[in-house]
Amino acid sequence: MKYIDLKDVTHRELGRALGEVKGISEGSNAKLDYILKFSFEEEIGGCTSIATASNGNFILGHNEDWYLPMSLYIIRAKPKGKPSFISVGYAGQIPGTCASLNESEIAYSANSLDTEINFSGIPKIYLLRSLLEVNSIKEAKSKMSLGNRTIGNSCFIVSAAEKRMVSLEWSPGNYDIIDGEKFLAHANHYLSPKMKKEESNKTCSKSKNNFERAEELLKQLKEPQLEDIKRILQDHEGHPDSICYHPTERAGTLASTIINLGDNAFYVSDGNPCKNEYKKFNL
Ligand SMILES: [Zn+2]
Repeated sequence: MKYIDLKDVTHRELGRALGEVKGISEGSNAKLDYILKFSFEEEIGGCTSIATASNGNFILGHNEDWYLPMSLYIIRAKPKGKPSFISVGYAGQIPGTCASLNESEIAYSANSLDTEINFSGIPKIYLLRSLLEVNSIKEAKSKMSLGNRTIGNSCFIVSAAEKRMVSLEWSPGNYDIIDGEKFLAHANHYLSPKMKKEESNKTCSKSKNNFERAEELLKQLKEPQLEDIKRILQDHEGHPDSICYHPTERAGTLASTIINLGDNAFYVSDGNPCKNEYKKFNL
């Protein structure tokens, strides 16, 4: 019954996303209820996000870590009346869940957070989908006023046009935004002092290691370039809890993404970036 509550909330607030769920169902010949339930699934992974600003250019890097049987897709879309976008998401789910870039020079990446679950809130996957359509950080922030949310999440939002990058953290009933100057790093625990109390469990070792290691490497950079971001996302310090994650055959980094806002380029490595080349996509 809780799932039916979620369906009602989503339909009311974010109708476009529900239309895409129907499209996935029709295209894959899978029952609508199955795809709908899958799109309410919450991440349990341990992703790492980093962002840098240097000489007016912004780069956003992200490793998507989860169980290996899951597969990802990359989509380049031109929705009518909305900004075109490139996005990496999970097969069977609507786009927007991992890392994305849109025509309005907005890039974002998402990291899961461990909070209480509010079964009458808006699922995070639908909120992330709505960010694909924003034209500014202010618009992204306004999505927090759509209503309470199912679970917490962290999002780096970079706006090249506004020359601004922020860390947005939310919980079911609260949120905070922190501006980044030279760099930002995030794993899977709250960084905003205002949000710390929203965390359900003690910060796991992987999240702590990934955040501290990413921050340590970012602090060493003077003028971050694409190759510097690649090197951080390929880092194995602290293995098996490392940024480039391959602890077992069943879990690891499913994809690594780098978005260079300077030329609207989206780079994706299919699997661990230490073993796979980054392929370039343009909007
Ligand atoms: Zn590796």
